[in-house]
Amino acid sequence: MKFATKVIHAGIEPDPSTGAIMTPIFQTSTYVQSAPGENKGYEYARSQNPTRSVLEAALAAIENGKYGLCFGSGVAATDAVIKLLQPGDEVITGNDLYGGTYRLFNKVFAKFGIKFHYINMLDAASVAKYINQNTKLIWIETPTNPLMNIIDIVDISTLARKHKILTCVDNTFASPYLQNPLDLGADIVMHSATKYLGGHSDVIHGCLIMNDSDLREKLYFIQKSCGAVPGPQDCFLILRGIKTLHVRMQRHCENGEKIANFLRNHPKVAKVYWCGFQDHPGYAIAKKQMRGFGGMMSFEMKDQSAAELKRVLSSTKLFSLAESLGGIESMINHPATMTHASIPREERIKNGLSDALIRLSVGIEDVDDLISDLKEALG
Ligand SMILES: *Cc1c(COP(=O)(O)O)cnc(C)c1O
Repeated sequence: MKFATKVIHAGIEPDPSTGAIMTPIFQTSTYVQSAPGENKGYEYARSQNPTRSVLEAALAAIENGKYGLCFGSGVAATDAVIKLLQPGDEVITGNDLYGGTYRLFNKVFAKFGIKFHYINMLDAASVAKYINQNTKLIWIETPTNPLMNIIDIVDISTLARKHKILTCVDNTFASPYLQNPLDLGADIVMHSATKYLGGHSDVIHGCLIMNDSDLREKLYFIQKSCGAVPGPQDCFLILRGIKTLHVRMQRHCENGEKIANFLRNHPKVAKVYWCGFQDHPGYAIAKKQMRGFGGMMSFEMKDQSAAELKRVLSSTKLFSLAESLGGIESMINHPATMTHASIPREERIKNGLSDALIRLSVGIEDVDDLISDLKEALG
C-alpha cells in the first residue's frame, strides 16, 4: 500500500459489533469477563483499549514498523524510552533538542543516575567519541527544533548497531510523510502526535513505533505499569487526523518553501534556517533521508533589539503567537522565552539558539495571505 492509502486504510476495519466504518470511541475503564481470565483480549483499559489498539496499528503501518504504542503525550512516550535504562547508563543526544525533552532528561532522569551527553551530532565521528561501555541509547531529533539542523540517521544508527546501542528518533518535525527512521536503521521512532499527526491543535498525544518484539514487550510493560496512556477520545482524534496527513503535509511543504524564500529575500531578515535551501549545511542529508522539507523554519532579523522583536511577534494576524506546531493554522513562536525557555540561556546561546530567533510553523492557509501577513508584520 502507498502512503496516501495507508493513512486512510491501514489497521482500520469496520467495527465488528456494528459495522461502523469509523473506529468507535470505546469510553470504558474495564471489560466484562465470562469466567475468571476468559476475555476477548481486553481486561482493563490502562492495559488495552480497542480505539487505542486500532491507532497503534495505524501508526505502525505509516512508519513502516510492526508495533505502535500510544501515550498521553510526546514527553510521556520519551519518558517510556528512558525507563528502558538503568542507573549508570549513558545516553548520547543532540545539543539542540526540543526544550521539553531536554528538561525531562536533565531535570528528571539525571537525578536517577542516567548520564546524558548533549553534543553536536552532525557526524557519526563526533558521536563515536562519546561511546563507552555504559552507552545504551542514542536519541536523535532531526530536523532539530528550532534550528532545523539535519542529523544523518543512517550513519548514526549504523554506528549504534555496531556497539549494540539503541537508537530512537524523534520524528515529530518530519512526520512519517517525509521521513521513516525505521527504514533508515533506527530501533524506535517517537512522535509528539500533538503536532502533525493530530494536525488540528486539539489534542495532546504521543507514540512509539518499533519492529523488534522484545523491545515492544519491554515498552508495553512500561506503558501499562507507568500508566501514561491516552484516553480513547484522544486516540480517535489522532486516527481522524492521520487520514489527511498526506494532503496537509503536501501543502505545509509547498507553503513552507514559498515562505522560506520570501523571508530569505526580505531586506529586514538576516538569516533563515530551513533545510530546503541548497546552501543549508544539512541539505544533502535531508535530500537523502527526507521526501520534502516541511513547513517548519526559523529566522533572525537584522534589527535584533527587544523592542523590534516584540513588535514583530505581536503584530502578525494569521500567524498566531503560540507554542506548539504542526497544526493546519500558522504559528509564530519565540523559542528563547516560549518553547525553549527551560534551557539555560548560556547553553542555548552556545548552541546557536539566539534571543533573536523566531520560529514559524507554516500552516495550510492560502500562502499569499500568509506572505502578506508576514510582510505587514516585518514592515
Ligand atoms: C512537542 C514536541 C515534543 C513533546 O510532545 P508533547 O506532545 O508536547 O508532550 C517532543 N519533541 C518535539 C520535537 C516536539 O515538537
